[in-house]
Amino acid sequence: MNFKNLNLINPIIRAVTEAGYSKPTEIQSKAIPHILEGRDIIGCAQTGTGKTAAFAMPVLQLLKKHSPDHQMIRTLILTPTRELALQIEENFKLYSKYLPLSQLSIFGGVSQGNQISSLRKRVDILIATPGRLLDLCSQGHINLSKIEILVLDEADRMLDMGFVNDVKKVLKLVNQKRQTLFFSATMPHTIRKFADTILNNPIEITV
Ligand code: AMP
Repeated sequence: MNFKNLNLINPIIRAVTEAGYSKPTEIQSKAIPHILEGRDIIGCAQTGTGKTAAFAMPVLQLLKKHSPDHQMIRTLILTPTRELALQIEENFKLYSKYLPLSQLSIFGGVSQGNQISSLRKRVDILIATPGRLLDLCSQGHINLSKIEILVLDEADRMLDMGFVNDVKKVLKLVNQKRQTLFFSATMPHTIRKFADTILNNPIEITV
């Protein structure tokens, strides 16, 4: 299996090859074809398996294919911590090197000013922790009505950290007609039940 077999486009293959990736990891081989087909995913994968690239590469490809002239935020990645938000942003930056797409991360614990001014520029992919996202939405700085793809990253940790109500509020703000990718390191019953309420006929992947 290589990145070409997964039907990834050349600008993405070139960027990951330059980053030193020679072949897809298991979660990437299993998830990418379904994500490119537009399916919802429930993925059980730990950090270190390459799960960020498993959603980031196909998300970039889908955004490129649809409407590149869009001016609204088109993908939202929800993640529990500032460290993860920054890591995911770095991943997107790396893989979108040869694509005209932009990403921004926002998180609590720092002042809002810089984040608000960054949001005035074009943002295709927003990576956010739930609390700061809701604050900036309620102040009118973010509109989530045109989200085409929603990713929940480390869903188990997000719920363990007490973000369940915030995540539910965010779900009310995003476009209902969307593709949803749900990733969690563990899949206890409560997480599974929660996933079932937001996913549409998902493909299940465990690595
Ligand atoms: P993650 O599970 O997303 O935290 O990724 C773990 C690490 O694996 C990150 O440092 C990635 O840059 C790296 N990585 C992701 N996909 C690949 C791949 N196909 N080949 C080699 N390294 C990878």
